This record gives sequence, structure tokens and C-alpha cells, in this order.
Amino acid sequence: MGQIYIITGNPFVDAGIYVISELTGKRVGDIEFSDLERVIPQIVEVYSTDMWKRMLRLIFTNNHPLVHSSGGGRERYEKFLKDLSNDIAYISDSGTCISCGKRDKSKVERRFGIGRELVPLTGSAEFVNFFPMGSLGLEMCSACLLAIQFMPISLHYCAGRFLLLHSSSEKVMKYWAKIGVENFDRQRISEKFTGCYSNNSNDPVNSLFRSIEDIVLSYEESWGEENAFIRFYYFSNAGRIPAYVEIFDVPSSVFRFIVYVKQIDAYADWREVVNRAQSGHRNEVYSNLLNERSIVKYFFKGDRREVFGNWNLLKFYLKEVREMEEKRINAIREFSDRIAELIKSLDSLKRLKQIEVAKDYAEFRNVLRFLIKDSLRVGLDEPILKFDEYVELILPDGAKGWSEVRDLMLFRIYEVLHKWLIERWGESEESIEQS
Ligand SMILES: [Zn+2]
Repeated sequence: MGQIYIITGNPFVDAGIYVISELTGKRVGDIEFSDLERVIPQIVEVYSTDMWKRMLRLIFTNNHPLVHSSGGGRERYEKFLKDLSNDIAYISDSGTCISCGKRDKSKVERRFGIGRELVPLTGSAEFVNFFPMGSLGLEMCSACLLAIQFMPISLHYCAGRFLLLHSSSEKVMKYWAKIGVENFDRQRISEKFTGCYSNNSNDPVNSLFRSIEDIVLSYEESWGEENAFIRFYYFSNAGRIPAYVEIFDVPSSVFRFIVYVKQIDAYADWREVVNRAQSGHRNEVYSNLLNERSIVKYFFKGDRREVFGNWNLLKFYLKEVREMEEKRINAIREFSDRIAELIKSLDSLKRLKQIEVAKDYAEFRNVLRFLIKDSLRVGLDEPILKFDEYVELILPDGAKGWSEVRDLMLFRIYEVLHKWLIERWGESEESIEQS
């Protein structure tokens, strides 16, 4: 028996294939002609409702066969889908289709060829790679064209545009399609048609992170083993020219971090970290994660000397996302533990305050010098800071990155001294002299 669908690498086609797989309950490679016949009437029914038609106009322009004002309509669309389905052959060794490369161009007659009313974003600059043939007369086979008709079900609607996910991970693709198909089925059963899935975020970055978190939280899978690179296309293909598209890449390290947050049951803490970073529409934690900027400062609870999560969560972030060496992370932790111990035995908030308020590297280094003197004064056996450790591990680049190291130290000190700090809370802080 032949095979109809394989994953193609084209984000629109692949999204549609995973939707068909979810709707039919079949694995991608097992989808049969009879399965397609069964699910085609479902999209005709749902897409013919007002809200879905509105979505289709934004996804496929006003020239989509269901919504076209003169030549379009339900019957025409039904016929178009049947013609595509009848024209599908099993995959072969080669073909001219720019998506699968396993079949030749669709024979279903098109007055104006195949353009962006069937393949969104065709011809727009960012998509040149996918569509080398230009805007009209695309070489695409009937199976890939049919798959694209199912793609809207997997889209997430966000502020007038759509998020399309494409991932190297089969599991991520599958569960993303599942969210859309559940939304689709709910609407069919309740007969309340509201269009594409939405998690009610007005910002694409917030929306995509929320959806990734939902997938990881809702479905038990060995996500930690998944080396998932995820790309989002935030697009609109309404009649306006040029079409709009913005691309967001979620590195696999960021995905693994979210998985880890769930694994160690730190999700409630994580939500607080994220909620505190909301600034207007954008969320700074999410956008820092996408843009490879540090999120360490968001782990602090305002100025209360308390932290969200624990050192293990922070360590995972530093190691996986910031690519900091484990040896260095451990050295910073051990150094911070010794300082915490010293501050407690001095029974003084003064040094802590000095670390907190240091404005530059020189001031920070000064505080460390005071601490070394203190440690000699209280008669510690070992020096609080070893020179080699400092130069090689804690601040190998000198002034560069000192404030992130300071934040890491404070995180650990607050964590270790949590009880003591609560006892001392509200106590008037000694004036800070440069002793
Ligand atoms: Zn194809």
C-alpha cells in the first residue's frame, strides 16, 4: 500500500498534515483516501460559518474559493476539495511539487494558477526560500494543497494575526495540532463557531509562550528528551500587499528550561516571575529568553530579599540557557554560601546592603575586600575567597558581567539566609560607612 503524506519541511503543509492526523486519529504515514473523504465535509461545514470565513479572509485573502465574492461559495469549495482529493496519488520517488517533491503539480484546474489565496504569503520577501517560483503558478501537488486547507485549524489567533508553529519535534507538532483540533471539535459539538483557537493574549510572544507552557503542562511526555527547536511565523495574509510575517525562534534550550520548570514543580513560582515582568503588551522575561538576554533579576521579589524558585531552578537556567559552565556556577554558589555564613555570624545586614547597592565593579570589589577583612577578624579557618577561584571562575572577565554575578550571589544569600532575614526584617539597617 502506498503512502499519501510525509513531513515536507513546508510550515503550512506540515501544520495541515498534523491536523489531518489528529482529526483522523491516524499517524501521518497511515492516512488513507477514505480518511480524507471523512474529514473534508467537517471543514466545509465549519469554515462556512461567519467567524471562520472572517479568519479565512485573513489567512488566504478574499480570493479563497470559499469566500470569493463572485466565483466562491460553499459548493464551489466542496467541489474544489473533492477535485484535489481525487487528484492525489501516492508519493513517488520524485516530483516537481516544491513542498513534498514526491508528486507533480496539481492538475486541478485553476484560472489564475496557484497563488496566495491557496498558499499564504506566497511571493512575500521572507518566504522566498519556500516559494522560489514567485507568486503565480506555484508548482504544488494536490496532496500538499489539500493539507494547507486544514492548516487554519492549527493556527492561534492573536491580535488580528495568526501564529503558525513549525518544529523539529514530532511531539510538539502533534500536540500543537491537538490544541487546534480540540477547539475545532468543541465548536462543532456546541455549534458555537468562534474561529481559530486563541489563548487571549494580545502579544504574539506572550501567546506563543503560554501555548508552549500549556502543552508541556497538559500532556505527560518525556519532554526533557525532546531536542525541540521551535519556530513561529506570526502572519497575516489579508488582501493587503505585502503580506505581514514576523519570525520568532524558540531555542531548544529555552524549551528544555520550561520543561524543567514543570518537572521540579516550580510552575507557580515561574508564573510569578513572568507576571512581574509584564510591561505594557510585551513581557520582558519572554522577550529576554528569545533574545538571549539574562532574566536573573526577575527572580527577585521586589526589594523584599526573597526569591522565586530555588537555586536548582536558577542553576538549570544558567547552565542550559545561558551556557554557563557548571564549575563556575558551583564556585559562585560556594562563595555565596561562605558570605552568607559570615554575614550571619557578624549578625549584621551592613555588608549585605553594601553588596546590594554597589554601583560599579570597583565598589563591588571593595565590598569583597571588606568581607575578607571581616573573615580574618572573626577568625575563620579558611579564607573566604581564594584568589585563583576569583580570577578563574567567579569573575574571569573582570568588570564584564559583574552585576549578573552579584545578582546570582544575592539570590543564593537570600535563599540561604531566608529565615534569618525574616527575623531581621524591619530592623533598622546600620548606616553604611566605608569601614
Ligand atoms: Zn506535494
